[in-house]
Amino acid sequence: MTERKVRVRFAPSPTGALHIGGVRTALYNYLFARRHGGDFVFRIEDTDSHRFVPGAEEYIIESFRWLGIQFDEGVSFGGEYGPYRQSERREIYKEYIEKLLANGKAYIAFDTPEELESKRNEIQNFQYDARTRMQMRNSLTLSKEETDRLIEDGEQYVVRFRIDPGEEVHVNDMIRGDVMIKSDILDDKVLYKSADELPTYHLANIIDDHLMEITHVIRGEEWLPSAPLHVLLYRAFGWEATMPQFAHLPLLLKPEGKGKLSKRDGDRLGFPVFPLEWKDPKTGEISTGFRESGYFPEAVINFLALLGWNPGTDQELFSLDELVAAFDITRCSKAGAKFDFQKGIWFNHEYILRKSDAEIAGLFAPIVANNGVDETLERVTQVVSMMKDRVNFVKELWPLCSFFFIPPTEYDEKTVKKRWKPDSAKVMSELVEVLSGIQDFTVEGQEHVVMAWVEQQGYKLGDVMNAFRLALVGIGKGPGMFDISAFLGKEETLKRLHKAIDTLK
Ligand code: GLU
Repeated sequence: MTERKVRVRFAPSPTGALHIGGVRTALYNYLFARRHGGDFVFRIEDTDSHRFVPGAEEYIIESFRWLGIQFDEGVSFGGEYGPYRQSERREIYKEYIEKLLANGKAYIAFDTPEELESKRNEIQNFQYDARTRMQMRNSLTLSKEETDRLIEDGEQYVVRFRIDPGEEVHVNDMIRGDVMIKSDILDDKVLYKSADELPTYHLANIIDDHLMEITHVIRGEEWLPSAPLHVLLYRAFGWEATMPQFAHLPLLLKPEGKGKLSKRDGDRLGFPVFPLEWKDPKTGEISTGFRESGYFPEAVINFLALLGWNPGTDQELFSLDELVAAFDITRCSKAGAKFDFQKGIWFNHEYILRKSDAEIAGLFAPIVANNGVDETLERVTQVVSMMKDRVNFVKELWPLCSFFFIPPTEYDEKTVKKRWKPDSAKVMSELVEVLSGIQDFTVEGQEHVVMAWVEQQGYKLGDVMNAFRLALVGIGKGPGMFDISAFLGKEETLKRLHKAIDTLK
C-alpha cells in the first residue's frame, strides 16, 4: 500500500462560540498537517438542527483568520471533497445507510419515545442492545411486510447499528496507545432519524472522514468514548484498511486543576474562554474574547500549544513556524492540562517585549488619539520604548503613560505628604533656574548639569528627584526622571515645575 497523504480535519458543530479547547484542537491538527506536509480540512457538522446557532459558523471562521491558522479546504475555502457542510450531504448519507441495512449491520426501529420510556421503567439500566433488541419494535422482530407497511404509512423510525457482543474493540490512539473496550457495553446507537432525514453525528462523522480521505483524527478527549463505535462502523463498511489513526487530546482543566474548564471559571476568575467576543443570539449575553481582551494571536497560540503538549526542552516561546517544526503528537500528555491563565498573560507580556516599539506604537497611537491627544507616531514610539516592559497588554499603557501627553492636574496626596518637603518649593525653584540654563536638553545633557548642582549644594539626590518626579508626573512612579524631562522638552518641563511650585507651596 502506498503511503497516503496526511489529511486531518477540524469538524466543529456550529452550536455557539468556539470554546478555547476547540481552538487548541484545531491548532494541533494544523501543526500536525503542516509538520507532515498534509492537508487541513474545515468541516461543519450541523446534522443536529436543534442545536444550530446562527452566526456560529462565521464566528469560527473569523476566529481562525484572526489567529492565523489557515485551512487548505472546507467550508468557505473550497476543495475537491465538498460539500463540506454536513447538512448539504444528505443524499450521500442515505446511500450509506442503505448499504448498512442491506448487509444486515443496521436495522430499522419504530419504538416511540413512550415505548422506550416504559422499557426503561420496566428494566433497570435498560440499554438497546443484543440482550434487549428482540423485545423491541424493529425490523428484526417485525416481518418484512409489516416493516415496509409502517414505513409506507409514514411512521417515524430510526436506523440503529447492530452491535455484536463478545468482541474486544481496540482503538489505536497515538497518545494513549491501545485502548480496548468490550463490545458488550455498547448500545445499538441510532445512526439515522427519519424525522429529519439526517444521520446522527457518529455516522456522518465517519462517512465524511472516509470520503474526505482523512488519515488522522485528532480531537478532544470527550470523543474517546465514541471511538470504539467509530472503529466498528469502519469495519461494518469494510473500510478498515483506510481507517484513520486516532489521537484524543487531554482535557483542559480549571486553573485549580480539578474538573473541566468551563465558561464559568472564566467569569469567576476574569479570563476569556473564547477566541473572540461572542454575543449569544438568544439571550443577548456578551462573553469576552481573547482578541477583545487585548491578547496577541501569537501569544494565544503559543499558550495553547503548551497546554497538553511539550517540546521536550525548556523552550517556551515559539512562533507558529517553530511550533510546526517541533510538533510531535506523541509528546502530548494523557493527563488533563490545567488552564493556567496567568501563564497566558505572561505570554502576552513576552510578545509585547519581542515586538518592535514601532509595532506596539501602531496599536497604542489610536488609544492616545482617542484620549484627545495629538501626537506624532515618533513621539508615541518613544513613550512605548520607555514603558512597554511594564505592561502585559497594550491597553494598560494609557493609564501608565498619560502623563507624558497630559500634564498632571492634581498631585497624589500620599506622595505629596511623603515627597514634598518643606524646602521642596525652594529647591524646585532653583532647579528651574538650573534647567533654564541648559542648552542640550537630552538625558545626558541634563544629567551632567543637574548632578553637579545637587552635589555643589549638598542636597540629597533622592529628595530632589522625588520632588521633581511629583511635579512632572503627579505620582511617585515612572521611568527615569531625565528620560521624562527630555521627552517633555525644556518648555513643558519648566511649565510643570512652576505649576507644582504654585500649587504645592
Ligand atoms: N462535531 C464534533 C465536535 O463538535 C467533531 C468531533 C470529532 O472531531 O470527531 O467536536
